[in-house]
Amino acid sequence: NGIDDLQPLESTIPDVERFKDTANLELACPSCRQKFLFGGIVASNYYSICYNGLQCKKCNHMFTPLQTTCQLERCIRSHISLYYAGWLHCDDPTCGNVTRQISVFGKRCLVENCTGVMGYRYSDKQLYNQLLYFDSLFNCEKNKKQEIKPLYHSGDEQYPKEQLTDSSIKALAEQNRELMNLNRGIVQKYLSDCGRRYVDMGNIFEFMI
Ligand SMILES: [Zn+2]
Ligand SMILES: [Zn+2]
Ligand SMILES: [Zn+2]
Repeated sequence: NGIDDLQPLESTIPDVERFKDTANLELACPSCRQKFLFGGIVASNYYSICYNGLQCKKCNHMFTPLQTTCQLERCIRSHISLYYAGWLHCDDPTCGNVTRQISVFGKRCLVENCTGVMGYRYSDKQLYNQLLYFDSLFNCEKNKKQEIKPLYHSGDEQYPKEQLTDSSIKALAEQNRELMNLNRGIVQKYLSDCGRRYVDMGNIFEFMI
């Protein structure tokens, strides 16, 4: 427990590995309703990052800053409510019992003859990691170094047809720094709330600073 639980968050682990199980950020175009995954300042068949913001490739709508921050905040809140829903699942893979927490019965699985132990389906650590992933999407430095977890792999149907050059990514990150920081501020607000719930915060804060 404690420090052991926090091991996978160590800063030595690359984001691709650290965030492999996190959910993607899905945005919807307010004009044409097209839904797409936002993966930072990267090539996408669905959106482009222009010098002055995020643009839908289907209808060319330019997102206002509020149109991204609102959706980001709504997505964060849906993850937080999932966490607060407090679903527990049995660790015995042959059992698959999922239930709300019933503290009276402790951690023992209530399925007959099952020796499994119930644990949170959506743990503190997962929620924290999810928020760190959203934070990385709007981190200019990580974008410039192209360290963001890729949304698609070559061969995927949705794999971007055109790639961005290293120099255009760097320029776009600077041109959109204000917008990036605005979104980052939203994530940071929830990150600090979530972080406060930890007792053993040493490891986490070390690499956040
Ligand atoms: Zn659109
Ligand atoms: Zn979400
Ligand atoms: Zn069980």
